[in-house]
Amino acid sequence: MTKKCFGHDVLRGGNILLEFRSLIQLADDLVEPAAGLPHLAAGFIDLQVNGFAGVDYNSPDTPHAEIGRSLRAQFATGTTRLLPTVITGSAPGMLGSLRNLYAAKRALAEGVAIEGFHVEGPHISPEEGPRGAHPRQHVRPPDVDEYRRWQEATDGLVKLVTIAPEWPEAPAYIEALVRDGVTVAIGHTAAQGSDIQAAVSAGATLSTHLGNGAHGVMPRHPNYLWEQLAEDRLNADFIVDGIHIGAAFLKVALRAKGIERSILVTDASSPAGATPGRYMLGDQAVDLTEDDRVVLAGHTRLAGSALKMHRGVENLMRIAGLTLAEALTMATRNPARVGRIAGRQRGLAAGDRADFVVFDFDAPAKSVTIRETWIGGECFFRG
Ligand SMILES: [Zn+2]
Repeated sequence: MTKKCFGHDVLRGGNILLEFRSLIQLADDLVEPAAGLPHLAAGFIDLQVNGFAGVDYNSPDTPHAEIGRSLRAQFATGTTRLLPTVITGSAPGMLGSLRNLYAAKRALAEGVAIEGFHVEGPHISPEEGPRGAHPRQHVRPPDVDEYRRWQEATDGLVKLVTIAPEWPEAPAYIEALVRDGVTVAIGHTAAQGSDIQAAVSAGATLSTHLGNGAHGVMPRHPNYLWEQLAEDRLNADFIVDGIHIGAAFLKVALRAKGIERSILVTDASSPAGATPGRYMLGDQAVDLTEDDRVVLAGHTRLAGSALKMHRGVENLMRIAGLTLAEALTMATRNPARVGRIAGRQRGLAAGDRADFVVFDFDAPAKSVTIRETWIGGECFFRG
């Protein structure tokens, strides 16, 4: 049955009528001026989520019902599609986590939102700083055979892999993944400029959480932040929680990349959307502090975020001075393009999946209140 929805399409800048089943059938300008309509945007896409609502995606044993609960909690933030993210761990641990997440996707109604998987590591820098919170003992060089096992365990749903390009094996590894249609990102790296250039020439198209997973102190120039900022073939994603990167770096990075090459991610870990206390990220304990930081237990080192997508959209306006349309572009169209999300390339337009959010926007306060989240033409959240 065809459904209908009216609202103000922020990217189009006008009121529209949407008609949809699982796909959008019609997105037409409303001729009659209509007052008091809610805002509409394509559903948010989060390319990096380690867990949410107290649920850890980095464990082979996380119950499927818990994964379902974590997905419903994300629907309340406007997220419609995500890449659950498995970080550096033992080979059997990472494979088990991917296998469990894939089984959950197949078993759960909410699993429709799991677009695929992001593997962040284990082929990253072993150095303090670039390695971030990834466990040192499991860092290892790129291995195409291990990648093939991830794909076998998920029916080919590993869509994004983050590696450090300074490994000698990196260019050949990147070429193999890109041939499969996988997006390869640079991250947790201490690379020289020549390594970054080689990775981009091999097909890497993204910088993972640029500005984080880096040394506390580095040469003023050259360094791997400038090299990635200056490389126009690289898109970049950012954790815009007001904690991971300061306002000055965020503004400069957005200007260097341009909005079209910039993506909002949460990098949420299990405490996101939960109450302060101790949680698990893989086999490491992490604490959610009263001021919304996720840190390795007993340390100050950040271990993912407690960010929610709609708060990230607000933060882009408040911290970086973006317009609502620019912030939404970073949460919808850009991750769809760079993450190669099928059926999500056009936004609120006929032929695309009926993934959208209905929300209220308070312009002076720059606040977003999610009213409804629709995925594939079904309502998964109503506030
Ligand atoms: Zn990371």
